[in-house]
Amino acid sequence: MERVVVIRFGELFLKGKNRDYFESMLVRNIKAALKGVPHAFEKSQGRYYVENFEEEDLGEILDRLKKVFGIHSLSVADKVKVRAEEDFPEIRASLAEIAKKRAEFAQGKIPFRITVKRADKRIPMTSAEIASALGGTVLALGKYKVDLTNYECDLKVDVRENGVALVYTDVIAGAGGLPVGCSGRGMLLLSGGIDSPVAAYMMAKRGMKLFAVHFASPPYTSDKAREKVVELRDLLTGYTGHVKLFVVPFTDIQLAIHKACPANFMITIMRRFMMRIACRLADKYECGAVVTGESLGQVASQTVESMICTEDTATLPVFRPLIGMDKEEIVAIAKKAGTFETSIQPYEDCCTVFLPKSPVIHPSLGAVRKAEAALPVEELVEAALAAVEEY
Ligand code: ATP
Ligand code: MG
Repeated sequence: MERVVVIRFGELFLKGKNRDYFESMLVRNIKAALKGVPHAFEKSQGRYYVENFEEEDLGEILDRLKKVFGIHSLSVADKVKVRAEEDFPEIRASLAEIAKKRAEFAQGKIPFRITVKRADKRIPMTSAEIASALGGTVLALGKYKVDLTNYECDLKVDVRENGVALVYTDVIAGAGGLPVGCSGRGMLLLSGGIDSPVAAYMMAKRGMKLFAVHFASPPYTSDKAREKVVELRDLLTGYTGHVKLFVVPFTDIQLAIHKACPANFMITIMRRFMMRIACRLADKYECGAVVTGESLGQVASQTVESMICTEDTATLPVFRPLIGMDKEEIVAIAKKAGTFETSIQPYEDCCTVFLPKSPVIHPSLGAVRKAEAALPVEELVEAALAAVEEY
């Protein structure tokens, strides 16, 4: 008897002829996720199996696999031998062990059923016949009663075609979505806040491979603020895979805007520069889109008019996966993704440094373009790009 982790993938089935491509991405991501944990990886009949691992690594393996997008569900199963001529001794041993453990602290008899799936047609019995034949093994423990409809425990036996059966109870939900890498590349504007890491999670879930750009304003923003962003990037990698992070020094641009433009346009014009620089980096790394953590109406810079002004400088589509979400919904995902606690650490963001007293909430594009005309835009963008640091 051997313990294995069964990996099932969902949405891939819907994709017809692209399936091979999606599967190759998924396999690559699973292998990357399990790097450093000794194991064997098997592929058989539309499922994957992680095998030959140390029992003490099981928790870590599950934690990592639960973050891999494209995985629909997971089970920890006993892999046992089945021979048609025998009375399933290994299946029975496994069932008894699983059932015994499950009943350890139970009060009264646990209603149970056994669900058999039989792919191996050499076994002459039907699935239902096998299930009822196996039932006695569980009943013999004295802690169970059969109940096919109102069961609390569903013992599953999958008899595969290659002379093995998988015995398990629990089906653990996977992260769902599509494997990262199968939906192109995006350049994420990553701040130190709650929202942009969640935007990364959302796009990775749809299979997008991400790069990230962060705008820092030293000495107004600290090393600690930058380290926080690096940490957020690292926290996400379980879901997103490796994300290259670019840090752009933004102080000179902010000072230039501050000096030459009306104070109430500060934020709008800053955002236009961020978008220009993000699009240039996106081009360089072959990203087809820019991703932000904006949510409609959340703050002054996230009105439709503000977004029109920012998007005016974009040369690529701008994806805003949080646009229609409430803060509570975003926070719930941040907690699930494990970025929330880091995001709420109070460090200054470049946008808060030069915050005007009364930013325009509904800027007019014409007025903003006019205000910005006082600046050597291309020169400032080039200088910032020349000073980009990669993490
Ligand atoms: P977040 O929680 O993501 O910081 P926010 O609610 O603070 O968002 P804004 O500060 O208006 O909202 O930022 C909106 C979006 O602009 C962010 O989600 C992010 O994509 C981008 N952004 C803001 N500041 C930066 C920065 N310093 N570097 C990179 N991107 C930024
Ligand atoms: Mg922010």
